[in-house]
Amino acid sequence: MRNLNLIVKGCMLIMLCFSCKKEDTYQVEAELDPYLQMFLQEGAKRGFNFNVEENGLLMKFADLQAPTIGLCTYSEPLLVQIDRTYWQEVTKYENCEDLRQNVVFHELAHGLLNRDHDNGILANGEWKSLMCGGDTYLERSWQVNFCGERRQYYLDELFNPSMPQPEWANYGDSFSGEKGSLYYELDLNNPKAKTDEDGNSFTISDGLYTVYLNSESNTILPIGKEEQVTGDCYFEATLYTHMSNVNACIGVGVEYTDAHNQKAYNSFLISKNYTYNEYRAYPANTKCQPNFAEVSIRYGVCDVNNETKLSIERTGNEYYFYVNDQLIYRHDYDADKPINRFNLIIPGKTETYVTSFKCYKKTEASIKSSSVNKDFFWGEMAGTVQTYKNVEIK
Ligand SMILES: [Zn+2]
Repeated sequence: MRNLNLIVKGCMLIMLCFSCKKEDTYQVEAELDPYLQMFLQEGAKRGFNFNVEENGLLMKFADLQAPTIGLCTYSEPLLVQIDRTYWQEVTKYENCEDLRQNVVFHELAHGLLNRDHDNGILANGEWKSLMCGGDTYLERSWQVNFCGERRQYYLDELFNPSMPQPEWANYGDSFSGEKGSLYYELDLNNPKAKTDEDGNSFTISDGLYTVYLNSESNTILPIGKEEQVTGDCYFEATLYTHMSNVNACIGVGVEYTDAHNQKAYNSFLISKNYTYNEYRAYPANTKCQPNFAEVSIRYGVCDVNNETKLSIERTGNEYYFYVNDQLIYRHDYDADKPINRFNLIIPGKTETYVTSFKCYKKTEASIKSSSVNKDFFWGEMAGTVQTYKNVEIK
């Protein structure tokens, strides 16, 4: 009996193993399943059909060792782990869905497409692929701008690594020179000075606007009238500074009102990487994870210790960022929203000298004065921005 009992128990165990085989090899956390389905659909559109239920896949949240945010293990069955903390943290960003898809798609491409890391770059210095990753490389952020017009390319590239380079990544374009008509210029001929209670000082004299900010932060400094600029426009500022710390940056940006009636800022920053002795550009948005991307600015294009021209052109609902008239980056994130005003981004604990600040409207642009119509935002600060220099690992 004893033996029979064992045999029966053994059979039951074997049957149990057979009956739960699929559950053992195919388990996908409910919250991750929509992202798996999205990946499978994108694959199916391109002729890839993965039978993940049959072949096995485990997709789970895990507490991964920072800065790792996702991990794919080529085990039997395949194991994809996504960091629980990262998944929650990104909910505060408006581009949360893009960030989540980015990490899940990256891991699934390792596991289902057998894709390795690809740290190739496009002509404009941006990552070629969502598959960028691995060990730290040139101290660059692995952030891929997986928003707007870029999504289609990065999805196509995931399933076909030999995709031709997209048009938005072209490099070498110089500014056309078509600025439109000037509608605001910072007056540098009327001397004035102000020091606020925090020790920030603002001075106009000798044709220079000199700003000293008494904190380490890079600060948004609105200048000019508050308007509502719709349509195409152009804005340029020339300035120079001495960056006093590794996180310091200068930049230009626009303020606008987002879909939730909140003030938001699209900014273009430049900062120096001292290890590689090069300037890098960071397109950023205060509602999104800082920053959308990090791209190298080619040698010789700028030196912020000398007068540097930073400009933004809005054409066809897209922002183009130029440094000394050289196109550095373009993107379409919230680029169709009316602009309230233009601003500078100024580094802390150092003097920055602004030699000009001019706003232009293109012929098709329309400008409406808003209800708040101050002449000049003298010494007003509107929040801080940072370059995103820590690196996540996928
Ligand atoms: Zn990876």
